[in-house]
Amino acid sequence: MTALLPEAAIESLKRALEASKRAVVFTGAGISTESGIPDFRSPGGLWSQYRPIEFGEFLASAEARAEYWRRKIETDKVLLKAEPNRGHRAIAKLVRTGKISSVITQNIDGLHQSSGIEAAKVIELHGNTTYATCLDCGERYELAPIKQAFQADGTLPECTDCLGIIKPATIAFGQAMPEAAMRQAEMETLAADLFIAAGSSLVVYPAAGFPVLAKRNGARLVILNREATPLDEFADLVLRGEIGPILGTAANVN
Ligand code: NAD
Ligand code: ZN
Repeated sequence: MTALLPEAAIESLKRALEASKRAVVFTGAGISTESGIPDFRSPGGLWSQYRPIEFGEFLASAEARAEYWRRKIETDKVLLKAEPNRGHRAIAKLVRTGKISSVITQNIDGLHQSSGIEAAKVIELHGNTTYATCLDCGERYELAPIKQAFQADGTLPECTDCLGIIKPATIAFGQAMPEAAMRQAEMETLAADLFIAAGSSLVVYPAAGFPVLAKRNGARLVILNREATPLDEFADLVLRGEIGPILGTAANVN
């Protein structure tokens, strides 16, 4: 489907929301750019400066872990300061009013939760960068003391319960997808009659499989993104533009 002009498209989105009994929103890095977090593709962005450290290297080498924490301390300067924007707030309102049953996100920034959506309704496919966990026993650790010890003398964090390796709670390249989140995302996708993908280039799999699954299962598929995506031709409605103003207008949120 070709993209509609903004006003007509927002009207169509409003009508799709009105007609829906159970909508799901699927978000990518694009919903957080208006909060000051660069997306994956922006040149010189946070993520494009270095070759990512793969999960296997992180496990195998203390030097790789040290490099990982060094980079994390840098990227956190932007990430942990960010606040939810109009797009996050619009989605939070639609969850609060019962229109949206849950949010499936590829983002790791925790901004959907900060916008007031209860954690159980935010399905994180790539984890969360605002805390860390033990890779062996799953115990949660807060970042501040870890970073402090690392910056003081290079100490790498170790689980106090089981001596396992502690890693930010994100899914690294080469790390298995989180099973429970994948299952929950699939269930929510199959239960939805409207599926809105917002701010994702829809090229990262398996995450980008959810809009396809929704559409094949009979849901209406809406794609909202600044640039074209490979799934546009498959969608019922394509909105090409900025997420905050579009979702904000559609949900009546400033
Ligand atoms: P992506 O960077 O591949 O795509 C983002 C898309 O959003 C782009 O197509 C871009 O044109 C669009 N976009 C950017 N700002 C927009 C705006 N204001 N309005 C409308 N569209 C906008 O992101 P992805 O599809 O989420 O995949 C990248 C991977 O990187 C994900 O796996 C994610 O885990 C990770 N990541 C996360 C964050 C975050 O948590 N905020 C940021 C960068 C990358
Ligand atoms: Zn442990």
